[in-house]
Amino acid sequence: ASELVIKNLHANIEGKPILRGVNLTVRQGEIHALMGPNGSGKSTLSNVIMGNPKYEVTEGEVWFKGENILEYSPDRRARMRLFLAFQYPMSIPGVSVANFLRRSLEAVREGNKPLDEGDNPTGKMGKRRAVPPGEFRKLLQAKMKLLRVDNSFINRSINDGFSGGEKKRAEILQMALLEPEIALMDETDSGLDIDALRIVSESVNALTGPNLGILLITHYQRMLNYIKPDYVHVMFNGRIVKSGGRELALELEEKGYEWLRPVEEVSE
Ligand code: ADP
Ligand code: MG
Ligand code: MG
Repeated sequence: ASELVIKNLHANIEGKPILRGVNLTVRQGEIHALMGPNGSGKSTLSNVIMGNPKYEVTEGEVWFKGENILEYSPDRRARMRLFLAFQYPMSIPGVSVANFLRRSLEAVREGNKPLDEGDNPTGKMGKRRAVPPGEFRKLLQAKMKLLRVDNSFINRSINDGFSGGEKKRAEILQMALLEPEIALMDETDSGLDIDALRIVSESVNALTGPNLGILLITHYQRMLNYIKPDYVHVMFNGRIVKSGGRELALELEEKGYEWLRPVEEVSE
């Protein structure tokens, strides 16, 4: 099974240390919830794993399928079937959701070619379409059915004033289509209403299985009323300070996060 292995990861943003030694392994088939107070570094961790150039890794490693991926481009990471739900194209005017999804599938299918040929944003391999239209349509329909998305949605323009819930829907449809081996899902701490939380929860439950590992980043304990993670981790000041099973989420719901604040931090 594929594994994402994060070892002693340290990262800065604008020279300021944010991640201060993260260790975490996510395997295909496992659901991990990463929780923790606002500002603890959860989104930073997902940005670093996806290869966002704004973040500077100062120490540590990120391994995926036996390769240290820290030097790889975000596209290359995606072609390895690591899904990073940030690929939502906020700034492409006039492209329908369906077309956007086709492009992203083609980009990932380019994994068939040697990886060192570089990234090809057109998603075409020479003159041959990486994904024949008929095959794409079938696949998309199957995933839409699974996630109960209707046709009017995929025909909308990607920039067409989507709500938080609709963005999530597009993102998760993309994830279903790309069939990643490990997926990172960041709930971002703001702007997700109850509706979006429900969509995310139901979709995650529809997609989970032995072929998919998920790192679900959430600030909200209530999400875990719907999704049953195998492991729960709590991040505090750039480190995972506690890991446990599902019961840890219940404990957090009862006690909040403060009891987990590392002692060293109190006197700082
Ligand atoms: P979380 O997702 O757990 O709420 P973040 O990873 O978003 O935490 O933030 C961790 C810390 O990094 C915070 O102190 C935040 O202010 C800082 N930070 C995050 N993104 C940026 C950025 N783009 N520029 C400067 N500081 C940032
Ligand atoms: Mg935050
Ligand atoms: Mg965040």
